Amino acid sequence: MGLLDQLSKTISQVGDRAKFEAEKFQKTTRLQGEINELRRQIDQKLLELGQRAYDLQRAGQIHAPTLAELAAALDQLRAILVAREEELKQAQNEVYIEPTPVTPPAPTVQSVPISEAPPTAAGPKTCPQCGFQMPATAIFCPSCGTRVSS
Ligand SMILES: [Zn+2]
Repeated sequence: MGLLDQLSKTISQVGDRAKFEAEKFQKTTRLQGEINELRRQIDQKLLELGQRAYDLQRAGQIHAPTLAELAAALDQLRAILVAREEELKQAQNEVYIEPTPVTPPAPTVQSVPISEAPPTAAGPKTCPQCGFQMPATAIFCPSCGTRVSS
């Protein structure tokens, strides 16, 4: 067998395989879809059956301990569900609150040693040069210009 024959045979095999895989995929996908749909319908009927049994049990029309147990468990779950839904609503309504900026500390008053008499204690001072009365805070005499503070 020539090389070309070999090659065309290989290609043909690849084609068959691809076709097989495609058909297999199609078939399994279809079956899986049908199975999912049947399961969904069964679940739906079970739900309806359960709802009906729950209603009958609550209405006192059937008395089965296992049903009473299930109904009680369902009530409990529903109560928790209501609480969780409320929590969720609150969580969804939460808004980000900018953290209040830390107020910068008030400038600390320089602690003045008590020996240095506070300025308020000193009364108006008198210029030793000209006798002018001036505020205790004055450094130079406004009248003659003499330095009156060290
Ligand atoms: Zn003076």
